[in-house]
Amino acid sequence: MQMPEDTPVSARLEALEGAAATAFEKLARPVGVFEAVSAEEFLRLYADARGSAGDTPLHHVVPRAGALALFAATLGAGVDAEIRQRFRAGDAPSGWALDAFASAAAERVADRLGECYRLALGDTGPAPGLRVLPYSPGYCGWDVSGQAALFRALVPIEIGITLSARCLMQPIKSVSGVLVAGSPDTHTFRPTFDFCEPCLTKDCCRRMASVRRQG
Ligand code: SF4
Repeated sequence: MQMPEDTPVSARLEALEGAAATAFEKLARPVGVFEAVSAEEFLRLYADARGSAGDTPLHHVVPRAGALALFAATLGAGVDAEIRQRFRAGDAPSGWALDAFASAAAERVADRLGECYRLALGDTGPAPGLRVLPYSPGYCGWDVSGQAALFRALVPIEIGITLSARCLMQPIKSVSGVLVAGSPDTHTFRPTFDFCEPCLTKDCCRRMASVRRQG
């Protein structure tokens, strides 16, 4: 819910979160797919996104990677429908709580898919101490227009995800991108790109620290 960790949680918020968890468990149908891609193929596909000529984290990370896979995953249409229904019924707090819960869950699904990919690489993986992180269009210099080429290559319709003309995924609570496998150093870069200044989350720092901790 984007609250600072040291902020006390009110009883009402706790109740909203508990109810969102119960609804999520009932409605979510998480499913994902990934498919190996070579660095050359991926960089061709990446070049299709708007603004891809500039310097971005993936321009540094991909050449160091041992293996790559395109991925897409979704929580299913039921969660989306329930969020919309709650807002339509005027119950914004519970709609917002379920939306926040589902957004966090979608990120976890991408991480779980990364873990599946790491296990699939197994002993034949490209490096000892293999770490897999998902990178997605819409973040860190990979323009959301990059979804179009990604979807042309992966075609995740088999798990029920489609892409609109404006590059929005349906169901909304879906994630896609590339799983990058490599050593912790593969995922290390200095977050000093043109687009980093207004970034409030600095999420890359948390991700880089997490792969180093696992090492
Ligand atoms: S600072 Fe923000 S925009 Fe820049 S690489 Fe890190 S997460 Fe991405």
